[in-house]
Amino acid sequence: MEKVKTKTIMTKSDQGNRWFGIDYHMNLYKGCSFGCIYCNSRCETYHIKNFDQIRCKENALEILEEELKSKGYKGVVSFGTLSDPYNLEEENLQLTRGALQLILKYGFGVSIDTKSDLILRDLDLLKAISEVNSVIIKISITTPDDALAKKIEPKVISSSRRFALVKTLIENGIYTGILLHPVLPFLTDNEDSITQIIEKGKDAHTKFIYTKMGMTLRTNQRDYYYAALDQLYPGLKEDYISVYNNRHICNTLQYRYLMELFLNKCSEYHILTDMDAIIADYKKVIPKNEQISLF
Ligand code: SF4
Repeated sequence: MEKVKTKTIMTKSDQGNRWFGIDYHMNLYKGCSFGCIYCNSRCETYHIKNFDQIRCKENALEILEEELKSKGYKGVVSFGTLSDPYNLEEENLQLTRGALQLILKYGFGVSIDTKSDLILRDLDLLKAISEVNSVIIKISITTPDDALAKKIEPKVISSSRRFALVKTLIENGIYTGILLHPVLPFLTDNEDSITQIIEKGKDAHTKFIYTKMGMTLRTNQRDYYYAALDQLYPGLKEDYISVYNNRHICNTLQYRYLMELFLNKCSEYHILTDMDAIIADYKKVIPKNEQISLF
């Protein structure tokens, strides 16, 4: 695997902490090996060439330690907004594990987005971090259908395993929910798919399900997605073009109906869906360190 050097690792969240209460973003890898056909990180905004060819930032932990030492505010550090931190290479490289050890050492919180049950390897660290600061895990699930998941997320574990992963994390006391994103027009934007995800999420005792009920299609990301559709579902690309043309934000065609169904069903099962409520819920028990650093 190619290795690259980096000058910085952590960046302050440009959305305040309105997105899942995240204070700092961090990506230990460049690119991702999971091959999801819809991946937003392929868009040109992020300037990641050869996205599917993953590279590791070889001096990442060294830089991270210096940055953690220098931050006055021990906020929540996000892993994996542009690359899954438990990608296929992490098992050997253990960069994510190393970063979690540093997060624990310096008393920060953590937010992790993943589709992999390799995260269970690091349960010891997640539990230890939970005792001193906030932890939130988002398991990304786009369809309840394992066969469809295999097509659109070819190197990721099945959706069934991801529901089981949510359950295991919750049973181990780790605050975990489901990121139902993206919802793909013509493929996963139907009542049955959304309902099944909520039902299976409820069975896994998910704390929340968060969705925007749509997808993005930006430059580069769109080209990759359309090429994959041509292979998997010939003719479907033309439907996208006729409905969305060059739009970047593509809400599902039945947006209102599906959103209402989603909100009602989650409310019935007491599953959180609102961003502010999720942030208040996972941060409410915390954190001595945050309070101390504020003063
Ligand atoms: S796991 Fe996430 S970052 Fe990796 S290809 Fe899939 S959507 Fe992109």
